[in-house]
Amino acid sequence: MILLGSTGSIGVNALAIAKQFALSVDTLVAGKNIALLNEQLRHFSPKHVVVMEEADISKVNHPHVRAGDKAILEAIENSPSPKVVNALVGFAGFRPTLKALECGKEVALANKESLVVGGAFVDTSKIVPIDSEHFGLWYLNHTTRPIEKMIITASGGAFRDWSCDRIANATLEDALKHPNWSMGRKITIDSASMVNKLFELLEARWLFGVGNYDAVIETQSLIHALIAYVDGSTTAHFAKADMKLPIAYALMGEVTEALLERIDLAAIGSLEFRKITPDRYPIWAIKDDLLQNPQRGVIVNAANEVAIERFVRGEITFGTLSSFILETYDHFHQTPSSLEEIFSLDEEVRVYVRGLG
Ligand code: NDP
Repeated sequence: MILLGSTGSIGVNALAIAKQFALSVDTLVAGKNIALLNEQLRHFSPKHVVVMEEADISKVNHPHVRAGDKAILEAIENSPSPKVVNALVGFAGFRPTLKALECGKEVALANKESLVVGGAFVDTSKIVPIDSEHFGLWYLNHTTRPIEKMIITASGGAFRDWSCDRIANATLEDALKHPNWSMGRKITIDSASMVNKLFELLEARWLFGVGNYDAVIETQSLIHALIAYVDGSTTAHFAKADMKLPIAYALMGEVTEALLERIDLAAIGSLEFRKITPDRYPIWAIKDDLLQNPQRGVIVNAANEVAIERFVRGEITFGTLSSFILETYDHFHQTPSSLEEIFSLDEEVRVYVRGLG
């Protein structure tokens, strides 16, 4: 495989699966964590390596190291490997997804932003999602019975038990305290604002087609997806909160040995579900409109990425982060009808959000 984002939360788990099942790694792509990358190189001996910055090339213990976005695309193009695992974070992952598909490779996709911004222009038949909720929907969806609704679950993020008036002024440190999952910084902030679940609904829409999608909070992250059938029954996918399961399926198609510890229902005792409401998660106000106009995902994504950068720099409060996204969604009305329009709209939205406030 070609692994993009090897030093991140998903990347590290993907390499754990590669080690456990002796999968070969052709190319590793990482950002700035060169110490961890060098450790990974010792174990996996890939043929090619790409890092984010030219200045880091000399620090990498490998004879074939290149740097930068263009080098990532060339590494995908030149590798004989049929599979790309895209665990990059944000819009930076979109071009690599397009390149992998253009080269006829299968994409194990953690980079959900690729579908959020460009789902309409991506051949999802070549994509296997690395996301616990979509894995759960896929796992459940092996019947021809008519489906009423596909439901994904949310943990509720760092602020699900806070009073609503405190959330607006929460700090970065507060936002990073995820109750159930250990993940990268951006997705942890996206969980606190519920942007992550909005993105996952869009991801589901592109992966599984036009349909009825919704989300609900399940506080322990033990149920990841549910399917409600027309006949009145609902099935649920239970698994411990561990990305190794979706990753293993995305890499191998099937898993026939024990990978996670089984959930002991009697030990859990009870489960708690909550409705997602806009008073706690203001972004939820645009859920229905966005699902009806999924091509506008690029607007929400660009606004979110710039607002997060500004929140991390301490320029805006957590409450302002969501208001910037809503204000931007209101301001831009375009529906991109080509890849070129996606890239130009992304740029336009970023300039706008940098100037807000
Ligand atoms: P992390 O921030 O932990 O990892 C991101 C990875 O991308 C790191 O290896 C980072 O390198 C690398 N990277 C970032 N920018 C560049 C660049 N310009 N060039 C090369 N490498 C780069 O993120 P996660 O693993 O949490 O998430 C990755 C994706 O998976 C996201 O889209 C997220 O939404 C999705 N996802 C994550 C889940 C999770 O459990 N974490 C669950 C489901 C989906 P470095 O660290 O060396 O700087």
